[in-house]
Amino acid sequence: MQANKQAAPVVGVLALQGDFADHQAALAACGLRTRQIRTASQLRGIDALVLPGGESTTMLKLLEVEGLWGPLGEALQRPIPILATCAGLILLAQHVENPSHDRKGQAKGSQESYGLLPLSVARNGYGRQFHSGTFELVSETLPKGTTGTFIRAPRITAVHGPCEVIAKRGNDPVLVRTGHVLAACFHPELTIGHPVTAMFAAMVTASARDSDDVAAEAQ
Ligand code: GLN
Repeated sequence: MQANKQAAPVVGVLALQGDFADHQAALAACGLRTRQIRTASQLRGIDALVLPGGESTTMLKLLEVEGLWGPLGEALQRPIPILATCAGLILLAQHVENPSHDRKGQAKGSQESYGLLPLSVARNGYGRQFHSGTFELVSETLPKGTTGTFIRAPRITAVHGPCEVIAKRGNDPVLVRTGHVLAACFHPELTIGHPVTAMFAAMVTASARDSDDVAAEAQ
């Protein structure tokens, strides 16, 4: 039977702040179309979603200011593939340890998040800008020698539920998959050859094919 959609799937890329443009370039290199998401109406009809790295506290503020916190939360409940990287991973974690201090030097404690990933993360868990860099990943799935660029990256400090660990940095999980969510502590859009984006693109293509089959059967 004829597939319902002929064109490549559309990936919405949250574009309030951060490294969304490089994600768009990496996704395009993997044959996918992209759409910047800045308003609730732009979430309509997307086949997948990317939450890029950047600064999670700024993203939280902008999500509130733009009235996107609720609509994005609803989109995240759809069974579409989601790629969350760095600050994006922080936005999806179940528990976020925030090392920041307020004006009076009081620790801010935990930070609001959508809680989709059964993980605890420590913001800036590998140190600050000075400690940022590119590190080799340990993985049986990714091509040998694949590296990840960690920029004030979150560190996964605990896993609370089913979660496939796809790559580690030392002993720490840094690329994980839970159902339709693929999440990285690093910036996969900056890795030459984009092996993680390609892995996500395969999830997107498979998911779009499945929904085309369902639509075709319903006709
Ligand atoms: N440290 C940033 C935060 O807490 C994340 C850094 C990144 O996305 N590269 O949001």
